[in-house]
Amino acid sequence: MIINKRIDVPRDLRAFADVFAAGGFRCYFVGGAVRDRLLGRDASDWDAATDALPQDVGRLFRSVIPTGVQHGTVTVRWRGHSVEVTTFRIDGEYRDGRRPESVRFTADLLEDLSRRDFTINGMAVDPASGEVIDPHGGSADLAAGIVRAIGDPVVRFAEDGLRTLRAIRFATRFGFSIDAATLKAIPTALPQFRLVSAERIRDEFTKIILTDRPAQGLHLLEDSGLLREFLPELAACRGIGQGGPHRYDVFDHSVEACAAAEADVVLRLSALLHDIGKPARKADHPDGGFSFYGHDIESARLAEAALRRLKYTNAIIADVTHLIRHHMFDYSDDWSDAAVRRFVSRVGLDYVGRLAALRLADTSGMGHGPADPRAIMPMLDRIEEFRSKEQAFGLKDLAINGNDLMALGWPRGPLLGKVLAELLEAVLDDPELNTKERLSLIATRLKDKFGII
Ligand code: ATP
Ligand code: MG
Repeated sequence: MIINKRIDVPRDLRAFADVFAAGGFRCYFVGGAVRDRLLGRDASDWDAATDALPQDVGRLFRSVIPTGVQHGTVTVRWRGHSVEVTTFRIDGEYRDGRRPESVRFTADLLEDLSRRDFTINGMAVDPASGEVIDPHGGSADLAAGIVRAIGDPVVRFAEDGLRTLRAIRFATRFGFSIDAATLKAIPTALPQFRLVSAERIRDEFTKIILTDRPAQGLHLLEDSGLLREFLPELAACRGIGQGGPHRYDVFDHSVEACAAAEADVVLRLSALLHDIGKPARKADHPDGGFSFYGHDIESARLAEAALRRLKYTNAIIADVTHLIRHHMFDYSDDWSDAAVRRFVSRVGLDYVGRLAALRLADTSGMGHGPADPRAIMPMLDRIEEFRSKEQAFGLKDLAINGNDLMALGWPRGPLLGKVLAELLEAVLDDPELNTKERLSLIATRLKDKFGII
């Protein structure tokens, strides 16, 4: 056994491992926690590996949830932690490039470490001594900043196509490089990658774009050929030149905009996909110039289809497509108050902060350095002022509703909506009109226009 490092396992988790020892079993912490502690980072979850079978673990602890018994995994609630406990195992044959046909339990920790994907993920710690068991040179790779497959990368990627994406995820998260042979093996595994479920791809991809350096991940995805497999709409933006203030093609612009956005899944996805409609909407003009009319609508449409395919939640899809649909606005301080209110009425109060953020990310992605937030902050200040004065932005803010209109003699039906929309227009222009008396008066005057007697 190669032991050259030590890490401290938190006391509660040492006590957790003691329960195994008292029952005559071994227990190690493995994978991500060991890696993260060796990097001096906080470990998010401590996953345990043991020679105890799931049913043994069920007897050792009071609160055991069978989260993946067929793969030997149960989750134990212990002093406020949820510890995933997996029986040492060797994965059987991977016939479909997705999941092993079968798993075989083993009493050998080293066999368990060998089935793991990368050397930096293939280490264990003995909780009692703090000794790190590192048979694949993971700590040296950590020190050198390298993601390297355990064993032959071509074989390992063929077993599970998702590992290609995981290699990029870990390199991106830690700012590591990918070992040359491992990197070269990614394109060989595209057939297996195509068999991976959308949900697994979505989860890894989301983690990649939420790191501190999404641009590194996105370039690796493009260069390795993976991006074209699951997000061809974005890959198609490569080489689409843009004029005006843009220094980048649509692809690099999208990547830079994504990197400039705050690390929030809706904002990063919106920034990344906000221009994916441009390849389809590029129109050449006789003077040699070109335009992208309607690309906001096309981008929103393509983003919706792509995110649906990747099985993002309806809430994320709705937010991202709405932000993309409305990303083309050019605020300047000479917008009238009415124009500001109309903007809010159109995009929704809930979205204005994120739209401003998207606009800044978009500008930052043009290649002239970070956008100056002062260009857009006054818009948010003005909106906040109108809001604090309880000015109306939508139909529900009007001092009058459909029932009031019917009391004034308007017939029930779709006409009511039209009248309310007109009243809102008037109120957006002049918030002083938003009283029941004044709106009733205007509504009465509108009767002529709508032919109501
Ligand atoms: P994170 O902090 O992102 O959770 P992690 O290393 O814990 O990182 P997980 O996806 O939670 O990553 O997986 C836990 C461990 O299981 C990994 O460290 C690795 O040892 C192993 N593992 C996970 N997925 C695979 C896979 N597809 N192939 C081989 N081993 C894997
Ligand atoms: Mg984990």
